Amino acid sequence: MAAAAPAFQSLVHDAERFGYLKPKDVARLEEAYRFSEAAHAGQTRQSGDPYISHPLAVAEILAGWHLDGQTLMAALLHDVTEDTSVTKDEISDTFGKPVAELVDGVSKLDKIEFTSAEHVQAENFRKMLLAMARDVRVILIKLADRLHNMRTLGAVSPAKRRRIARETMEIYAPIANRLGLNALYHELQELAFSHLFPLRFQVLAKATKAARGNRREMIGKTLDAVKKKLADGGIAATVHGREKHVYSTYRKMIEKHLSFSEVHDIFGIRIIVEDIPTCYLAMGAMHGLYKPIPGKFKDYIAIPKANGYQSIHTDLIGPYGVPVEVQVRTEQMHRLAESGVASHWLYKDETDQLSDLQKQTHRWLQSLLEIQHQSGDPREFLEHVKVDLFPDEVYVFTPKGKILSLPRGATTVDFAYAVHTDIGNRCVAAKVNGELVPLRQELRNGDRVEIITASHAKPNPGWLQYVRTGKARSNIRHFLKTMQYEESASLGERLLDQALRALKGSAAEVDDASWERVVRDGGARSKEELLADIGLGKRLPAVVARLLLKRMDSHEDAKTSVTIRGTEGMAVQLATCCRPIPGDGIVGSIKKGQGLVVHQLDCPAIVRSRKNEPDQWLDVEWDPRTTRLFQAAIHITVENQRGVLARVASQIAEAGSNIDSIATEEDRALFTTMHFIIEVANRQHLARVMRSLRRLPDVKRLARAKE
Ligand code: MN
Repeated sequence: MAAAAPAFQSLVHDAERFGYLKPKDVARLEEAYRFSEAAHAGQTRQSGDPYISHPLAVAEILAGWHLDGQTLMAALLHDVTEDTSVTKDEISDTFGKPVAELVDGVSKLDKIEFTSAEHVQAENFRKMLLAMARDVRVILIKLADRLHNMRTLGAVSPAKRRRIARETMEIYAPIANRLGLNALYHELQELAFSHLFPLRFQVLAKATKAARGNRREMIGKTLDAVKKKLADGGIAATVHGREKHVYSTYRKMIEKHLSFSEVHDIFGIRIIVEDIPTCYLAMGAMHGLYKPIPGKFKDYIAIPKANGYQSIHTDLIGPYGVPVEVQVRTEQMHRLAESGVASHWLYKDETDQLSDLQKQTHRWLQSLLEIQHQSGDPREFLEHVKVDLFPDEVYVFTPKGKILSLPRGATTVDFAYAVHTDIGNRCVAAKVNGELVPLRQELRNGDRVEIITASHAKPNPGWLQYVRTGKARSNIRHFLKTMQYEESASLGERLLDQALRALKGSAAEVDDASWERVVRDGGARSKEELLADIGLGKRLPAVVARLLLKRMDSHEDAKTSVTIRGTEGMAVQLATCCRPIPGDGIVGSIKKGQGLVVHQLDCPAIVRSRKNEPDQWLDVEWDPRTTRLFQAAIHITVENQRGVLARVASQIAEAGSNIDSIATEEDRALFTTMHFIIEVANRQHLARVMRSLRRLPDVKRLARAKE
């Protein structure tokens, strides 16, 4: 413990690294260091180094990007909540909420592991990481953490090394690229490549070194000629030769089927000048020096790349016929190209000549990260970069670790349909992160979602009120429509059967030719459609029956009836005015577009219609095999006593019934009337429930409700 402290002391006082911070911040940083060191005391890394060396190195990398004091403190503390007993609250109490939030954000990212090698999955994973870290600084800490782990990867087991290297190549390097952190992007790629393909890396690195030696003279000559040409033209510029990265050489060889020398024989030069007009002057000078290769000129100053990158590119035929790639850019463009999002922190202490860069960075962040932000000072905005990187999407896991992207506000039902239409059609419940939740639950980034299905389950029309995806919506609609059609057709068949029997006929005696004739004359497309029309009340069963039997003027015998089970779904509706249950005498009427509506025989709501329009009504009977539960309404008047509602409710439950809804109204000070809708199998069951309720001394009056 004591041994590491002096090392940090010297770092803090190293003006090169931490000198840009205020003394007050440096003092806080030292506190964070001691806190972290104490928390990690006794822990070592795979390499055998004391654990504190890792967070310290991460903080150093971030200091290299000139990040603020909070970020550096969080970097020093980034592993304590994971690896020690320290809690988020403790960090918040000691170092403030922003630091605790940053540490928490990094720990959350650490918990998710990338498992699939699929390209789409990698892209979703990157987006999810970005979306979960709403503060860009969390990503920057995570990237610095990854960089240090990659630099010290030699110490871990080969299997883990490959996994981390692959994850770096597929996830973290592209994120660095997307954030414009170019130097980091290339270093992560080189390191990942060296661990994924150690042999290829060694061979190519060696060849690169050798080629550099062989071409030293040519490179020197070209650089001298370029510098002289610029000086002759009165153009102030700095000129650098560019090294090719081993990994990009490898990629070019693979993708373009080129040999090493074909790829590597290209020499790169970067020219950095003061302002944009000078960029074009320098480019002109270069075209005057060596012949440009047609079709290779690209002006990314006039039209910047999507990540904000700006430069002019051109390819020339250099001395000895060697191609030379030239990039021309201003100092500001160079900073943005090298350090992207971090360039804001890197250069923010310089004078206002940089406000242009800041504006540019701001604009770039805005477009790249699709931020909706309230108008305000761009500098202030950047200092609290709480960005919602993908405001319209959430990323969630399937139980197998696959990542799905859904629109924001999507529910577990949307998830179920996104996995498979059958899963959606049969879902009955959902678990999010291991806990049962209602189906309408909205999903959040990183949720692990599991759908529970049942073979008999069907989509519920109520789902349409909260699903967000078009896929879920159209599948639910389609299912309901098909289901309603089938139900209606089956009800239509029974209604027609009844009508045929009333005419002393039967379905068996109707031949195919009669069917065809009636279907065609009726303008239907099929027998099925004709039956569905009957079920939906669009055609009268008696009329169709007469047409089928060609008995236009015979009289019906009213003594037949349709049986219903109550499980027909939307084709048969039990009227809510009287709520008929098995055992009740019932009667039905066919309403256009609604199918068969069933009432109790003595329902007061239908007295007038039965008298005035007797044709509308038909006899209906309960199918004795019905097994479902039906809703019945009861009124109970009780004395106002403590706990009376609980006593009534438990009495109902004990009689084997469920309570669907309760409404109460206060009659007088002494009594309360409660309106229950309960579920019962039939009349006998309801009678049992009512008998047991009467036994309660609180109950003064009790009746089945009929409107
Ligand atoms: Mn770490």
